[in-house]
Amino acid sequence: ELYNKVLELKGNIRVFCRCRPLNTEEVAAGASMAIDFESAKDGELNIKSNGATRRTFKFDAVFGPQADQADVFKDTAPFASSVLDGYNVCIFAYGQTGSGKTFTMQGTEEARGVNFRTLEELFRTIREREKLYRYDVSVSVLEVYNEQIRDLLVSGNQLGAASKRLEIRQVSEGIHHVPGLVEAQVNNMSEVWEVLQTGSNARAVGSTNANEHSSRSHCIHCVMVKGENLLNGECTRSKLWLVDLAGSERVAKTEVQGERLKETQNINRSLSALGDVISSLATKSSHIPFRNSKLTHLLQDSLGGDSKTLMFVQINPNENDLSETLCSLNFASRVR
Ligand code: ADP
Ligand code: MG
Repeated sequence: ELYNKVLELKGNIRVFCRCRPLNTEEVAAGASMAIDFESAKDGELNIKSNGATRRTFKFDAVFGPQADQADVFKDTAPFASSVLDGYNVCIFAYGQTGSGKTFTMQGTEEARGVNFRTLEELFRTIREREKLYRYDVSVSVLEVYNEQIRDLLVSGNQLGAASKRLEIRQVSEGIHHVPGLVEAQVNNMSEVWEVLQTGSNARAVGSTNANEHSSRSHCIHCVMVKGENLLNGECTRSKLWLVDLAGSERVAKTEVQGERLKETQNINRSLSALGDVISSLATKSSHIPFRNSKLTHLLQDSLGGDSKTLMFVQINPNENDLSETLCSLNFASRVR
């Protein structure tokens, strides 16, 4: 409850920064850390070079290399309860390829990420409230690649196959829908796990290089919650979006041509559209440019108003990646 008050005071947008540890190759290559975690106060991120602090960024929370999935989720969990209270919520992971977006959102089987943990928290809270409320939960898993929406719960829906084109339709004032998208009803965590696995397996299907494909598309889970208050019959409907964004790294125009150039332009377009939308919401601008990309159009009902947004800005500590890191941190500062 206190948390919701703080959230209201500060607006409904929060930004968490997470920095992954140096990996074994980086350590072997003698990489140095561009981030100073020792001197940082709460919520601060200090960029250092040649041993001195050069710049400080401020976030709602900062998770250093020591933070594990449970530490990160502790601060994320309140967003799950908000969904059951009828709020729409968007959680994003932004950053260059290799910075830990998928680790934070999807995680691994041993170290499950925000997607799984948020649903676990939803079901835990649903059980806690079962005398007062009844909830229906369903999940869609989709991908936006090259400004096209692909349903990852439809088997055989291969990348590039002549599959049904999914489009966004406005069904009524402020309500958008993707007709034909599979909504899998889930009743417990083993069903959730199955749906998450189906989605992540489908992502790779049909691409020659699964890693490269996943770094160039947005992977989106949409959790739809219908709630009914058993005392007064009041109903709520809300959505939780969990978004593993395409890699934010800049690609030199001279390096790419043809299909790859189009991909790059589409990624840049959708990430900057997302930045524009969130920053215009933060400054309460009267025009919010939702229609500039499929991603923002899709999320339109769940950004702004009384919706809650959490952006994870993911970074590498490696000094060699500092220029990309600064780009990501600047993006995040702009939306905060
Ligand atoms: P991205 O999705 O941004 O391209 P990944 O999530 O695939 O990046 O992370 C790149 C690699 O770093 C993966 O092998 C992942 O397991 C590892 N990694 C990322 N973040 C962490 C972390 N906080 N702790 C340990 N390993 C991590
Ligand atoms: Mg990834």
